[in-house]
Amino acid sequence: MIIIIKKLFFIIILFSIFFSVLCSVSGENELERARETMVKRQIEARGVKDARVLNAMRKVERHRFVNSRTYSEAYEDYPLPIGHGQTISQPYIVALMTELCRLKGTEKVLEIGTGSGYQAAILSLIAKEVYTIEIVEALAKSAEKRLKDQNYKNISVKIGDGYKGWPEKAPFDVIILTACPPEIPGLLLEQLKDGGILVAPVGDFNQELVRVEKIDGKYIKETITYVRFVPMIRGKEK
Ligand code: SAH
Repeated sequence: MIIIIKKLFFIIILFSIFFSVLCSVSGENELERARETMVKRQIEARGVKDARVLNAMRKVERHRFVNSRTYSEAYEDYPLPIGHGQTISQPYIVALMTELCRLKGTEKVLEIGTGSGYQAAILSLIAKEVYTIEIVEALAKSAEKRLKDQNYKNISVKIGDGYKGWPEKAPFDVIILTACPPEIPGLLLEQLKDGGILVAPVGDFNQELVRVEKIDGKYIKETITYVRFVPMIRGKEK
């Protein structure tokens, strides 16, 4: 009798392991399909063509960058709250801004506004090194942990005020802002390499997405579209 119970118990355990593996595999496949649909309908359909960008958007597991409450909306066509009054940007905007950076794989990139770490993860698959600054300590810490847990190795996170940039690591080939300043911070332009690109939302209520190229010490600005980002907060002077 005891042997039969033991056998039964063993069979139940085996069956539940098999079932949970099956569920997680089918869950993963479903998420992969959701990402593919996101790339096709929200990103390619709106004109993003850069194969590296599309590939990164397919690879990075966006559901691992959102709160558990919004997990099921991770691949929808809108920004989502990430706590502290901040948001993870709409997938299309992340793809568009990344494409505007014209990355080839050799660049040192500075991002202002780490937030969830999602944009940094996308950049890290296409650039050589990513430095990212976040002013809200709790967000910086959780993004750093999230990126480490997922094995992103070429991203450094710093708690600090993005208006100051990261002078110790400058100059950068690319600087990307994911919070909106009223005008482009001068210190960031100074930390851009000659030939480099800065992509940022700029403005107050009416915000424009701009790309600035530094050519022979001059800044050439191009306006891309209207956008809506959270404001870039002024850090406390020390
Ligand atoms: N790139 C993020 C989303 C950014 S939301 C992602 O992929 O999830 C904008 C972020 O900028 C917020 O987390 C906000 O706290 C941060 N931020 C605002 N002002 C800042 C500043 N002065 N320096 C650094 N980060 C700032």
